Amino acid sequence: MNSTNDTCCEASGSPAPSGPMRSFRFLIRGLHPRLLTVCPFGAILSRPMWVFRYLPVGCTHGYSRLAPSGHPAPRRSPLLSLAFCLILLPCGLFARGPLLKRHEYSLPRMGTIFRIELYSADEAAASKAAEAAFARAEELEQIMSNYREDSELMRLAREGASAPFPVSSDLYDVLSKSIRISELSRGAFDVTVGPLVELWRKARTMGRFPDASELAQAKALVDCRNLELDATRRTVFLKRAGMKLDLGAIGKGYAADQMLTLLQSRGFRQAMVVAGGEVAVGAPPPGETGWRVALETPDAGPGNPPCTLLLHDAAVSTSGDSKQFVEVNGKRYSHVIDPSTGLGLEGAASTTVIAKEAATTDALGTALSVMPVADGIRLAESLSGVAVYMVRQVGNGWKRYASRGFPAGCPGR
Ligand code: AMP
Ligand code: MG
Repeated sequence: MNSTNDTCCEASGSPAPSGPMRSFRFLIRGLHPRLLTVCPFGAILSRPMWVFRYLPVGCTHGYSRLAPSGHPAPRRSPLLSLAFCLILLPCGLFARGPLLKRHEYSLPRMGTIFRIELYSADEAAASKAAEAAFARAEELEQIMSNYREDSELMRLAREGASAPFPVSSDLYDVLSKSIRISELSRGAFDVTVGPLVELWRKARTMGRFPDASELAQAKALVDCRNLELDATRRTVFLKRAGMKLDLGAIGKGYAADQMLTLLQSRGFRQAMVVAGGEVAVGAPPPGETGWRVALETPDAGPGNPPCTLLLHDAAVSTSGDSKQFVEVNGKRYSHVIDPSTGLGLEGAASTTVIAKEAATTDALGTALSVMPVADGIRLAESLSGVAVYMVRQVGNGWKRYASRGFPAGCPGR
C-alpha cells in the first residue's frame, strides 16, 4: 500500500491538490462542501472558471480569495452576471463553512511508519487528536508486541499455559477476531504461528534452511484450537506449554481501526490511518468521493503503474513479500508461513483485501495468501462486504484474480 514515509510528526496544513487550477477547483469544491450539498447549482460550480467569467465583483464576496492567481481578468456580461448573482446568492449564504485544511502526521509504530491524514479547520484540535491516536497505537504496541519482553502478549505466552490468564479487552478482542479468521480460513491464518516465525527469523539471520527436527517441533506447537478463550472471565488459556502467539498479521490492522475510531469520536470524520500496509479510511476528503489508495503489487513497474482504489468508510490491506522474505539456497521464502507445511510461501505474490475493518483486511490478506487462489476467492465471496484482488507470479509472467465486488480499474479486472 502506498504509505509515504514522511518526516516524523510534523503537521502539514496545506490544501491537498497542487497547481493553481487544481487547487482552485479543490477550494471551490473542497473548502465549501456545504455549498455543493445545499446548492442546487453544484454542477455549475464544478466548472468554476466558467462561473467566474460572469460573476460581478460584488457577487464574489466570500469567493474572491479562491480566484486562481495569474488568471486573465474575467470578461463579464452585466445581464448574465446579475442572473448568476441572484441564483448564487442564497448558496453563498450557506457557503460560510469553516476552512478545511489537510493535515498529515506520521510516527514510527509497531516496527513501521504509521500515518494519519485528516481534514480540519482547527489545527490545534487536529494535532491533539492525532497525538491521542498515536498514543493509542503505542498502548496497543505495548499489549501486542512480541519484541517487547514485558508486553501483555509475552506475559501471556510465559504464564498462560499454567492457568487461564486474565487479559485486557484489547487483547481479548484481537484474539477473538484472530480465531474467527482461523476458522474461516481452516487454519491458513493462525496466531499460534509464533514458534515457526521465530525459526524462520533465525534462518534469515543464519542464512540457512531450518532443519527438519526443528521444523517438526515448532509445527507441533502451532494450532489455534489450543487457544482457549473464556468470554465471561476474559481469560486466555494456552493448552500446550511452549506455544507462542504472533499478532504480526492482524495487530497493525487492529491498531488502524482503533486510531480511526478515536479520530472519528473527536469529530474528525474525514480521516485516513495508514499503519504500514494496512489502511483504514473514514468519510471522503472534502469534494471527493473517496480516498485514493495506491496498491503495492509485485507486477507494478514501468508501463504498469500501481493501480489505485477510491475508498471511503472502509479498510484495505495488501499482504505480500515484496520487502520481507528469506533467501536460502537460491530460493525465496516469504515471511508469511503456511502453518500446514511450516514453510514460508514461495514465489512473488500479493493479496489485497477490502472490507469494513482493517483488522479483517489485515488478517484475511494473510490468510488468502496462504490458501489456494480458488478457495480464497470463494471465501471472500462468501463474506459480506469483502473483496479480494490477487497477483501471482507464474513463470516469467503474472496472473491476476479478483473476486466479485472488487472495484474495476486494476489490471485484469
Ligand atoms: P502480513 O504482512 O500482514 O501478511 O503479516 C505477516 C506476519 O504475520 C509475519 O511477519 C508473521 O509475523 C505473521 N504470520 C506469518 N504467517 C502467518 C500465518 N499463516 N498466520 C498468521 N500470522 C502469520
Ligand atoms: Mg496481514
